[in-house]
Amino acid sequence: MSLLDKLQRVQATRDALRAGGRSPVGLTFDAILSPTEALVDGQRIILAGSNNYLGLTFHPDCLQAAERALREQGTGTTGSRMANGSFAGHVALEEAIGAFFGWPRGIVFSTGYLANLGSIGALAGPGEVLLMDADCHASIFDAAKLSGAEVLLFRHNDAADLERRLRRLGARAASTLVVIEGIYSMLGDLAPLRDMIEIKRRFGTYLLIDEAHSVGVLGERGRGLAEAEGVQDEVDFIVGTFSKSLGATGGFCVSPHPELDLLRYASRPYIFTASPSPSVIASTQAALRLLEDGSDLRRQLWHNVETLYQGLGDAGYRLAAPPSPVIAALVDDRETAIEAWRGLLERGVYVNLMVPPATPGGLNLLRCSLSAAHTDEQIEHIRSAFVQVLPAASGPPPV
Ligand code: PMP
Repeated sequence: MSLLDKLQRVQATRDALRAGGRSPVGLTFDAILSPTEALVDGQRIILAGSNNYLGLTFHPDCLQAAERALREQGTGTTGSRMANGSFAGHVALEEAIGAFFGWPRGIVFSTGYLANLGSIGALAGPGEVLLMDADCHASIFDAAKLSGAEVLLFRHNDAADLERRLRRLGARAASTLVVIEGIYSMLGDLAPLRDMIEIKRRFGTYLLIDEAHSVGVLGERGRGLAEAEGVQDEVDFIVGTFSKSLGATGGFCVSPHPELDLLRYASRPYIFTASPSPSVIASTQAALRLLEDGSDLRRQLWHNVETLYQGLGDAGYRLAAPPSPVIAALVDDRETAIEAWRGLLERGVYVNLMVPPATPGGLNLLRCSLSAAHTDEQIEHIRSAFVQVLPAASGPPPV
């Protein structure tokens, strides 16, 4: 078998997704009109699957900051910070992110994916243990591979299973890094954080939370689930991304431990890739200020969440988790899900089609992510499009 033969199988999967209409994977937007609207083949569609939770991608402060940085510092850094040096903006943003969490200066990475690889991959190593929620994001699984640590999974959101596994580890629990997420990206469910903190405290283990989907969304100041649950001071590391509420690309890790800064010297995804462009850093810094003062945006976001969640539930959709800005509707099988996804797009609504193996438990999902920038009319449009494709998309309403 040649090296390329396995790609023939990928082609078969791709062709199956393309058969019978638009492919739900890798759609191209011909133009982006606003944080919530785009053009696809000349049709205006509502973006309801872009993780743009606060709708900041076109905010004048962010655009202005990015434009200025572009003019004054150029289009890119053209190298890694270790080899080529940092721009002042990288350091300023790291200080701002640390201050945002009330902790020392954080570390900025070029994407959220790399933030997980760079943090987890350097924190845990051979002979140590990574104990992860089984539904963690792919970047956390990839980080585990990079780390060389022993990898153990506990059942999704199951604090009792976490405790059982820590007990089995005995003295090794003290050199274990537990990894969870704030809001899980596929189903939109939240970690039972208080229970997990109590267990972590008892076993003297370390805890890292990926708050990619919860920063900007949860907590009075938008710091995420740990803030919302009042337990941030018991968390060891928070990883996040600039690509959702902050409306750019990049990622970060923050921690109360002064050793965090040393991660730079041990983290391959920090050392061996180019640092984020000045315009990205500048827009993120502006977005961080808006996020911190963003209680009105958060209120609007949660208003949109409650409205759509209620509307879809009333229409008979089975929803995967309690309300959060990720609302995932369960669909019986893959073909029905693809058909419903196409039906939504025809009606001017773009959501994410999520099918196995990307989903937990073999679920087929129509996944919405909502934004503070969605208007009441847009939310109603999304709801009504879902209602119209419902007969094709769902089994009988839950009893
Ligand atoms: N962690 C989680 C939980 C995510 O959902 C994602 C992206 N969807 C990432 C990390 C990676 O973030 P980025 O897209 O910024 O690389």
